[in-house]
Amino acid sequence: MMIDRETRKRLFETVANRVIANADELTDLDRAIGDGDHGTNMRRGFEAVLAASDELAAKSFGESLKGVGTTLVMKVGGASGPLYGTLFLTLGKLLADDVSQEQLADAFAAAIEAVKARGKSEAGQKTMLDVCLPVLAVLREGGAGLPARLKTTAKLAAEHTIPMRAIRGRASFLGERSIGHMDPGARSSALIVDAVADVMEGFA
Ligand code: ADP
Ligand code: MG
Repeated sequence: MMIDRETRKRLFETVANRVIANADELTDLDRAIGDGDHGTNMRRGFEAVLAASDELAAKSFGESLKGVGTTLVMKVGGASGPLYGTLFLTLGKLLADDVSQEQLADAFAAAIEAVKARGKSEAGQKTMLDVCLPVLAVLREGGAGLPARLKTTAKLAAEHTIPMRAIRGRASFLGERSIGHMDPGARSSALIVDAVADVMEGFA
């Protein structure tokens, strides 16, 4: 698929609006097992992305993704800012305007590896990775109805963090008491995947 300027703008605005619209839910989740700032952090970052969407979309897909990453690093803060920043910066380094599904999967895999390295984290630790990794697996499979399957996978994967015990991030300070709550970063990742899948559906 060709990610032209109009698509880039739609993509960034759809993702940003989805995060902003659900910021209160993210804050509530973070209040349960963290310090209650994930929604505020993400809203601040994606409001900045929204404000810069024309400027960002005017660049190549790669450069615009790097711009999103830099904005998130600067504006989100907390643990999630550098991690989401790393994710988008890595995607930006690897993607060109014309993107095959295989290239997208390869770039997302590399971006996840960069997040793991930055966060010293892996699957099963009750973080955003517990959504990103299952989504990557479905992206690799491809096939019919991919956007809908990405959405379902992301939603269920976020729910699957509820019984997990946090091993990374602030929630890990709670030990056993982190069990029984959805990870806020897993939920924000699911929201982002859902928004990206909406834009992908527009291609079908
Ligand atoms: P902070 O924890 O600094 O307040 P946020 O509340 O914005 O930052 O983000 C918390 C989310 O960041 C967690 O729910 C988790 O998904 C993610 N996270 C935190 N630490 C890590 C890590 N080391 N690796 C991967 N994800 C992490
Ligand atoms: Mg927090």
